[in-house]
Amino acid sequence: MTFTGSASTSAQFPRDLLPEVAFLGRSNVGKSSLLNALAGVKGLARVSSEPGRTRLVNFFRVHGASRPGGGGRGDLYLVDLPGYGFAKAPKAVRESWERLVGSYLEDRDVLRLCVFIVDARHDPSAGDEMLHEWLFHHETPYVVAANKVDKLGHGEARRRERQLEEGIGKSAQAVVPVSAARGTGVPELWSIIRGATLAPADEGNCWTRKLRRGPSRRPRWSLSPASRR
Ligand code: GDP
Repeated sequence: MTFTGSASTSAQFPRDLLPEVAFLGRSNVGKSSLLNALAGVKGLARVSSEPGRTRLVNFFRVHGASRPGGGGRGDLYLVDLPGYGFAKAPKAVRESWERLVGSYLEDRDVLRLCVFIVDARHDPSAGDEMLHEWLFHHETPYVVAANKVDKLGHGEARRRERQLEEGIGKSAQAVVPVSAARGTGVPELWSIIRGATLAPADEGNCWTRKLRRGPSRRPRWSLSPASRR
């Protein structure tokens, strides 16, 4: 996996039309750590937490991933979207974040799956709830990655997983308990990502994003509590 670049506007998104998987979650949830764990390379996604890049869309290209069912290999992008939940950020910063993330999520036809990362130890934040509402409304395929399960005992981890399955994970393809720190759940997540991006379309790939067009059906995009109605 290689870092191929950052975008601050939709005009800078890649044009090679490879399938994409977007990573979303509030700041500090472990998004960079999970990208590193998936890449199997420490420090790769550190680029996304460098000052200046935290509010950009960062693209990581995966080269020659094996297709499910042994049908050869293919490339895809893992897309690191800027984290939300920075309540103290100035209004202008929050608004530019909403424009950038909104334009990616609403218009990106090559988006196959969102990995919605939450902290397994805590109830979903207001930002998490907003993101869930948005994904549900747009019928965007997503999985919930419940990170930092290494901090929980087995019973508590199961309890949290069930809570997520009944809450923000109810309309998800799966809820996957993960630990970016220990590698728990990373192979499962990787297998879901390969299925969503590289499975042959003629095998009834249920992950393909439903087409929905027309500005009238778009809800207002906002994840920052201060700008919620
Ligand atoms: P990001 O802001 O979402 O990209 O979060 P980072 O990947 O920078 O991680 C934020 C903090 O959480 C760091 O201190 C990480 O070491 C820690 N962290 C990330 N993943 C895990 C995990 O699976 N388990 C534990 N215990 N800590 C983690």
